[in-house]
Amino acid sequence: MPLPDALLHTLRSIFGDAVHTGPAERLAYAYDNSRLDALPDAVVFPTEHAQVEALVRACRAHRVPLTARGRGSNTTGATVPVDGGVVASFERMKRILRIDPANRLAVVEPGVINGDLQRALAPHGLFWPPDPSSSPWCSIGGNLACNAAGPRAVKYGTPRENTLGLRAVAGDGAGFRCGTFTSKGATGYDLTRLLIGSEGTLALITEATLKLTPLPSSIRTLRATYRDVAAAAQAVARIMGQPVTPCALEFIDETALRLAHAHAGDEVPLAGALLMIEVDGEPATLDAAVAAVSAAAQGEGLESLHVAATVEEARRLWAARKALSPAQRTIAPDKINEDVVVPVSRLPELVEGIRRLARKHEVLIVSFGHAGNGNLHVNLLPRDAAERERAHACLAEVFALVIELEGTLSGEHGIGRTKREFMPLAVPPAALGLMREIKRAFDPDGILNPGKLLP
Ligand SMILES: Cc1cc2nc3c(=O)[nH]c(=O)nc-3n(C[C@H](O)[C@H](O)[C@H](O)COP(=O)(O)OP(=O)(O)OC[C@H]3O[C@@H](n4cnc5c(N)ncnc54)[C@H](O)[C@@H]3O)c2cc1C
Repeated sequence: MPLPDALLHTLRSIFGDAVHTGPAERLAYAYDNSRLDALPDAVVFPTEHAQVEALVRACRAHRVPLTARGRGSNTTGATVPVDGGVVASFERMKRILRIDPANRLAVVEPGVINGDLQRALAPHGLFWPPDPSSSPWCSIGGNLACNAAGPRAVKYGTPRENTLGLRAVAGDGAGFRCGTFTSKGATGYDLTRLLIGSEGTLALITEATLKLTPLPSSIRTLRATYRDVAAAAQAVARIMGQPVTPCALEFIDETALRLAHAHAGDEVPLAGALLMIEVDGEPATLDAAVAAVSAAAQGEGLESLHVAATVEEARRLWAARKALSPAQRTIAPDKINEDVVVPVSRLPELVEGIRRLARKHEVLIVSFGHAGNGNLHVNLLPRDAAERERAHACLAEVFALVIELEGTLSGEHGIGRTKREFMPLAVPPAALGLMREIKRAFDPDGILNPGKLLP
């Protein structure tokens, strides 16, 4: 349905030329990496906080849906405007407003690309820990709204642990600041961490104060192969059970290794399971840290353990992990990519359960991911319509298994459109009821990103 003329008129008075209603522009903002799509009625490009306040007030006055968009790289349909309305793309609101080494913080607008921020911070000897592998093209606003992370989360945490404060606009059009510019704060409810992971359903983020960490001066890469998944999972538990926390602890199962080997050749070893481990720190202590982690990686079922001596060798050791995504795409362009998470000690049961479900439903499943957080990317690879149907049945059982193991639906990708029907599995009715009340308090008319997150 086209937007009311009065709303379009208001949008043009707020944004001037930065309002698009043509079919080509609407199509370009209709989809994300979930492969779902739905056309918005208009796309706008805020550059200032005040414009976002005026935008939300205008949409609310006409009860028109408003969906925030970073770079559309999320995998859950979280930016697809399923009820039409206005898409606010933050791609032009991308200034780094302050880098403050003394206070270890940076103030940024939401459209700043994660990789651009890391490059700007590096000369100061600092970094922002969340490191999704999409960092060259995903935005800080999207990272915050999804609580997106990557391999480094095992040591340095996710956006929730690395954000001090936010500026945002709620669904009633009221702008507000929450959080602090300080590294401590005990002043009322923690709205910052509530907005992080809220997928644009509570408020639009217009500024973020990010907590920075000193860059480690050295890093060492290790690769361990194991006879089977159980042996690798026990090694993960041993590594996480000793005092040195690795800055990456990635797991790849046998099926994934076979796929990657077929795609990339002998640089990828064939084994029952593989762990990629990175340890960072200062030169004076790094050898002892590597020794401690190596000792923990050793044990029943270990087949090989390599410590890279050079940067080139480290690159070769990562070859298996890097080959995984292209290898999967070649056999199943319609892969279903989940990112379930369980307590680290339950990983062996999860991996074994997934193998059982793959056999039961006759679907190819590869599992790999951030084992140090118990966070596995479980990728179902259906090759035709019949397999796609079986994969969906299988998925429901994978989620049920994860909940049984005291895990949860998503470690970093979020819920979006594709997983909201499963929310009651993971969130009890009383907590879901509180979430709905929170949604009403922030967004009384339900205009912000409708059809997402809450079932
Ligand atoms: C190849 C590839 C690799 C990936 N690897 C990882 C990975 O390692 N780890 C990981 O966690 N994710 C990964 N992702 C998923 C994705 O990149 C992340 O979720 C990322 O944070 C999304 O950022 P974006 O800028 O693209 O946001 P979008 O996809 O545009 O938006 C995501 C959500 O954020 C909301 N949003 C965006 N901006 C704002 C704002 N200013 N205010 C309020 N809400 C807002 C949107 O409404 C939506 O709900 C990967 C994706 C791809 C395609």
